[in-house]
Amino acid sequence: MGRRPLKPLIVLGATGSIGRQTLDVAERIGAPIYAVAANRASRDLHDIALEHPDAIVCIANPGDGRARFEDAFGARVRFGPEEIVAVAGTRGSIVVNGIVGSAGLRASLAALGAGNRLALANKESLVAGGPLMLDALAEGGGELVPVDSEHSAIWQCLAGESRGDVKRLILTASGGPFRGMTKEALESVTIAEALHHPTWSMGPRITTDSATLMNKAFEVIEAHYLFGFDYDDIDVVIHPESVVHSFVEFSDGVVKAEMGHPDMRKPLQYAITGPSRISTAHAPFDLAGRTLTFEEPDRAAFPCLDLGYEAGRIGGTATAVLNAADEVAVEAFLDGRIRFVDIPEVVATALGRHTAIRPGSVEEVEEADAEARTYAREVCGTLGA
Ligand code: MG
Repeated sequence: MGRRPLKPLIVLGATGSIGRQTLDVAERIGAPIYAVAANRASRDLHDIALEHPDAIVCIANPGDGRARFEDAFGARVRFGPEEIVAVAGTRGSIVVNGIVGSAGLRASLAALGAGNRLALANKESLVAGGPLMLDALAEGGGELVPVDSEHSAIWQCLAGESRGDVKRLILTASGGPFRGMTKEALESVTIAEALHHPTWSMGPRITTDSATLMNKAFEVIEAHYLFGFDYDDIDVVIHPESVVHSFVEFSDGVVKAEMGHPDMRKPLQYAITGPSRISTAHAPFDLAGRTLTFEEPDRAAFPCLDLGYEAGRIGGTATAVLNAADEVAVEAFLDGRIRFVDIPEVVATALGRHTAIRPGSVEEVEEADAEARTYAREVCGTLGA
């Protein structure tokens, strides 16, 4: 069959969960790997470099692993965060950004600036740097596509539709481990309970963010930047089975959903091939015998969701503050310094103290981020005392 050859992939955060699954998908669909990047000179990265003998290997912080990688891979290994940004700007490629944290923003901007397709799994790029991302997209003529299952679902529901016909986007949320609990009951939940996610196995920060619904707040902000809809037209519904990955409602009352087994490799594959599809082996999906349930989020018990809407509506650097303050608060919670219910308190205080601007540079985003961290640490200090 005459399928167009796939563009070479650049996999940032190659040793993480998104990165490993991307390499898996690439092998299945025969996508060439141009470069892989990771933060550290780990054993896993070494193995990946061996499996992909033609790929450029970038390491942000190699430490004492530098010589070992130089000996093993010679000129195809590059060191320093700036090399990751440089490789992301290689024209004619698809960049999958699975970097964790704010280090991902510069690489995202470089990918879009070079006119590449950016398959985005790095939340901070849009949550912290949304306005900068839109500028880079407009200037570079690149393509910004989602990897997250919810946004991938919306992208697929929107395919072939006119945006003027869309009434609202409805993101589904599993509800996390504390779904159904009251505000009072949440006062005594433990770290171990917060880290037990019912559906997805992820890192401690994002798992805690799923428990507070902050992760869904971030996804609402991402949906705003990805698809260009107002916050009033983006809703959230709790759906514990995580079978429907999201919905789009149209002006004629028709509602489209995208559903299937929760498996990140599907949205990853679509981020590479979409809007075309490539046939791959997959487990059959049976609807018979399934019960799907939906409920309103409890906004009083989980105030992080509305904090996300609030920051999103303020816009500019407010969402960078939301992200940075949340990261500090989650860290304090996971250290046992503050309670689970204190997380939204910390974020709300930091947000209240910040005067948002529309950032014109990464440095301005970083300033807002640093300011938010200072505020958040102060609040954590008072709460923990
Ligand atoms: Mg998600």
